[in-house]
Amino acid sequence: MARLHLFWPEGTPLPRLEALDIFHIESGGCTGCALELASLSRALLAGNHPIRFVSTPRQAGMLLLTGSLTVGMAPVVELAWQAMPGPRVLAVVGDCAVDGGLFGGNYAVLGGVGVRARSSVSLPGCPPAPDEILAALVRWQTTEGER
Ligand code: SF4
Repeated sequence: MARLHLFWPEGTPLPRLEALDIFHIESGGCTGCALELASLSRALLAGNHPIRFVSTPRQAGMLLLTGSLTVGMAPVVELAWQAMPGPRVLAVVGDCAVDGGLFGGNYAVLGGVGVRARSSVSLPGCPPAPDEILAALVRWQTTEGER
């Protein structure tokens, strides 16, 4: 399977971020992971947490994908990535985004972005629970995301 060169090429150091502003795209799948993320987003908002979900890639440092990447959504993901200013990282959440999961490659589905591109956060699960997603983000932020 060809690699996506849209994201960071092999050998390039992945950037580190101070703030974690996340733009989420459901790029395929069943939307189960997206619902878990919506729950997490509401909880973070209510708790005034420093990790935020933002509504435009222009404010984001992390692009978080759930679901297998469909052919139709590939240009949308590329546009979002190109619209992100400054240092940017990729996260793949859920089995479908990590390796294709239930939705393998076919004429309409490219498969999991996690096996085609370098990601800073890769969290399997079908779907991972909100607390697991938050733990993975905090773990990345505290170990790799700080300057
Ligand atoms: S990993 Fe499971 S819950 Fe998430 S999009 Fe795929 S099938 Fe749905």
